[in-house]
Amino acid sequence: MRVRSFPLAFAPFVPRKLDARGYMGWGPEEYAAMRKPPERFPVILETVDHKPDHPTEKFRIEAAGGTVTMEDPPRLDGSLAVSRGLGDFEYKGDGQRLASEQKVSCVPDIYEISSLQPGSICVIGCDGIWDVLTAEEVAEYVREELSMEPPTDLGDVAAELLRLCLKKNSRDNMTCMILHLVDGSDWANFPDEMKNYEKLLDRGDQDEDVQTHYAAFLTTSQFPAQALSCDVCKRWLKQMNQCQCKQVFYCSRNCQKKGWKAHQKVCGAKGDGGGAKLKDGM
Ligand SMILES: [Zn+2]
Ligand SMILES: [Zn+2]
Repeated sequence: MRVRSFPLAFAPFVPRKLDARGYMGWGPEEYAAMRKPPERFPVILETVDHKPDHPTEKFRIEAAGGTVTMEDPPRLDGSLAVSRGLGDFEYKGDGQRLASEQKVSCVPDIYEISSLQPGSICVIGCDGIWDVLTAEEVAEYVREELSMEPPTDLGDVAAELLRLCLKKNSRDNMTCMILHLVDGSDWANFPDEMKNYEKLLDRGDQDEDVQTHYAAFLTTSQFPAQALSCDVCKRWLKQMNQCQCKQVFYCSRNCQKKGWKAHQKVCGAKGDGGGAKLKDGM
């Protein structure tokens, strides 16, 4: 996803673990006066982590007969470092208690926000990110990337954010999604793109499980199993064009034109009016 222009107002919403905290933002007037993203990028909502030592969690856990050990990180019954989740059924077996009263509850916190301005940003990420970065640091990082001219692609911002967490030695799960709350009209004719697909090409070191997951991801994303990257710019879009010789793919006519000088020497379809026609590669 690429952010093409700054919205009228711009404020990040940073939920953690599928739920979220706090609100603050700019009105359109303030933003119009600034004409660019503000120096600071305030976090308007941030969720409370469901760690066993949080007062609400500890209260429920102990009421259900569990214990919270105050180590780092704090653990439920000396084992689990989280206090809510969809699995972990061994902590949910008390037939006398509601689902919301078990040591581990599957009930999420739900936060509602009104008056979010168009262009607000929502970052959803799991533990490994928040273990090493604060919500303010994430917000600042996203703000800086989007201040670039042109703004950095949001998919690249998410990928780079995860690399930053790895550098900071995070060893927990890391999944990140950055949402840009716009009306979507800018994207109406913008094809889906597979980013950072290099790992799909070099399968030497990958175990079977990883390969199976990559294959499943490609299938659900409706991309072909093999990378069909542009012969010129290397981008891999969902809709690729194929030269009539069937040897090369291009992301656009522009790239096809740029690549023709080099490709015509080997193109088997060059009798076709001096430039191979493109057709859908999918
Ligand atoms: Zn291209
Ligand atoms: Zn060709």
